[in-house]
Amino acid sequence: MTGLRVTSVTTSYGRGGKVLDALDLTVAEGELAAVLGPSGCGKTTLLRVIAGFLHPEAGEIAVGGRTVSGPGVRLPPERRGIGIVAQEGALFPHLSVLRNVAFGLRGLPRGERRGRAADLLELVGLGGYGDRMPHELSGGQQQRVALARALAPRPALVLLDEPFSALDSSLRAGLRADVRAALRTAGATALLVTHDQEEALSTADRVAVIRAGRVAQCGTPRELYERPADPWIASFVGEAVLLPATADAGESHAVTALGRVRLTGTAATTAGTVVLRPEQLRLTAPADDAGADAAGRVTEVRYHGHDALVLIELAGLAEPVTVRTLGPLTVRPGDTTGLTVTGTATFHPDRDATG
Ligand code: ADP
Ligand code: MG
Repeated sequence: MTGLRVTSVTTSYGRGGKVLDALDLTVAEGELAAVLGPSGCGKTTLLRVIAGFLHPEAGEIAVGGRTVSGPGVRLPPERRGIGIVAQEGALFPHLSVLRNVAFGLRGLPRGERRGRAADLLELVGLGGYGDRMPHELSGGQQQRVALARALAPRPALVLLDEPFSALDSSLRAGLRADVRAALRTAGATALLVTHDQEEALSTADRVAVIRAGRVAQCGTPRELYERPADPWIASFVGEAVLLPATADAGESHAVTALGRVRLTGTAATTAGTVVLRPEQLRLTAPADDAGADAAGRVTEVRYHGHDALVLIELAGLAEPVTVRTLGPLTVRPGDTTGLTVTGTATFHPDRDATG
């Protein structure tokens, strides 16, 4: 069964342009999907439409196989079976943690409510925190409570709107993993929206990239990173090295400023752009130039501790290429270095060359 199906949904605010433009999105039951897009692209709008706070101009929405919005159908939010985790600050400040979680369980007998709420607190790692008030918790703990509250009524779908964005980066990675585990254990179907590509790739089973009100590409994190549908997606989902390239139709390599590059699949046309990832480029000693695919000059080193990005200027290229290096840094700005390419690159025909 399908957990969530959004079919051709279109929305705009007042006289503004379309925020969502015939958007299609499917999430399988029990799956954790992410919607990834830049700030202002319509992620929150999509969640509001799915939750029922905003009625779309066109299209259909089904949750757990049941149509909740469509021609002649418009279920109110409270009847859609959807749990929501907002960005921050969504707890009732005057209720204890336990009563916050029990809030959506009013249909149950008192004892069962407390039991279920306590179980959910246990699930999110906050067993024993039931008597605290929200202001006595850290931001990360508050988000855990919000998740427990959303999951308590066993919703058919959980929506998470940038739930980690207000937290310190040191907290985020751990909380992401815990939220993922809690959603798994609960067997929940979930849709997380975020502008953070690392968050989407590391948390979700499947990621949909939104551009211009539509899903530009949807796939597993690896599919998106290794086979981006176009250069824009490649640059949005991680760091990308974009190189003008020529290839012969049907060939499995292309010619670039880095020499001949093997392609993932074959090229369709002659002129296009090749996409590589910075970790596919290796620095080689300049004395070793004979074995290198190209040579260039280091213009900048961005040191990150666990790795470094080295920017290298190459003859004939307008933009420097980016190389990710692990281990001790061996180059400095101004150095000349050799470069080799490993693995395969995706090839994207120029727009005007398509056909
Ligand atoms: P995101 O969550 O991806 O940052 P939003 O869904 O909040 O984006 O907003 C999408 C677009 O719709 C933006 O251009 C935003 O300015 C506009 N928008 C959002 N809410 C409203 C509103 N209530 N009235 C008018 N325009 C809005
Ligand atoms: Mg938003």
